Amino acid sequence: MKRAILLQIDGITAKKGKILKDFSLKATSEFNRLWEDRDFCNTFMDFHRKTFVESKKRTGFNVQVYACLERAVWRSKGKSSAVTVKFNVPRNCKTFDMTMPFIELGIYPRKRIAVPIKKNMNFQRYADLLKSGWTCKTYGLTSNLQIVAYLSKYEVELPLKKNILGVDVNSKCFAVSVLSPEGKVLHQDYFGKDIWVKRKKVFEGKAVLQSYVDTGSSYANKALKRTKRNEHNFVKNRIGEVVRNITEMALRYDAEISIENLKRFSPKGKMFNREVMRIPFFTFRKNLMQRCFDKKITLNIVDAWHTSKFCSHCGAVGKGHDSSNYALFRCKECGVVVNSDRKASLNIAIKSLLERRDTINHNTLQISNRRVPVNGLIRPDAVVEPIVAVRHVSSTYGKPTGFSHGKFTKDAILS
Ligand SMILES: [Zn+2]
Repeated sequence: MKRAILLQIDGITAKKGKILKDFSLKATSEFNRLWEDRDFCNTFMDFHRKTFVESKKRTGFNVQVYACLERAVWRSKGKSSAVTVKFNVPRNCKTFDMTMPFIELGIYPRKRIAVPIKKNMNFQRYADLLKSGWTCKTYGLTSNLQIVAYLSKYEVELPLKKNILGVDVNSKCFAVSVLSPEGKVLHQDYFGKDIWVKRKKVFEGKAVLQSYVDTGSSYANKALKRTKRNEHNFVKNRIGEVVRNITEMALRYDAEISIENLKRFSPKGKMFNREVMRIPFFTFRKNLMQRCFDKKITLNIVDAWHTSKFCSHCGAVGKGHDSSNYALFRCKECGVVVNSDRKASLNIAIKSLLERRDTINHNTLQISNRRVPVNGLIRPDAVVEPIVAVRHVSSTYGKPTGFSHGKFTKDAILS
């Protein structure tokens, strides 16, 4: 599947604008010149051999720019008054992050021009598509100096799995619950508790080193850098191992994997908690997407609505945590006390189960010999028709995640 979006260049300097304009005019005139040479050639290779050296000398363009013109001329039915030149990532085009979007075009050898992109509606659409699994490996420069983003997407059908494995990423560990289609808990587990313990220690060590750095110690500065590097590697490696364990477990239990769309750690939490835990969630999610793709496991991303407040024992929606112990969930309705992390991972799995069309015709779910009303897990505005109890986050909030039930895109994983 392919599509193109037109992006506007924003606030470019007069000098850069002139370079681009000259380049574009030159490309158009070269296109028409090549068109005249084309007529005397029988094959594309003849055409290429005949024109390449001269054209290169004439224009001084990057080889890939020339190759683009050459192919366009060969396919064209006539001359053109406005040529869009294509640039391929990564060879002669580079893109930058979405907060300050730039696209760098390699027009001449060793001459790249970075053009800022205007953050308008089109840009937003482009950014949303990239987030939902589209990739952009080619950008075009039009004759009136706009940027065309050529997007593509490949969908892969994945084999359906019977059960669901919910993962809750919280401030201390990765909690896992495996649920059968009937709502029976098949297995619960924790991973990566040691990551938090180690990071806590490192965090304290860093604070000490920082105080020496502040007094001007270059030794402490080096040590601090080394510590940060080590910590980064440790977390990266451990998260890789955790993801491997989780995906292996999913395969063992014939389960899809479900996680929440985003994780907000309590803003009331200490500075330390925020700093320690924010990074791993995104590293974890990226890593998990990659490995699920490799192992052909469907990854569902569910809405985080009430997953930590819903009582999977009686179906009531409570405040969430025990006032004296944050790690425990105490239900005001039925009095059950369970581990918060475990319960959250179970609720994520339940929510995924509700998204499956064949199981959502009833509004209760059998969990461990108990029928639980599941309305508390459903956003009120999500109940539009009785068949769709919980809508997928991508359809409900217009924030596509790149994943849908039963399939996901190759490029979402690779980008
Ligand atoms: Zn309860």
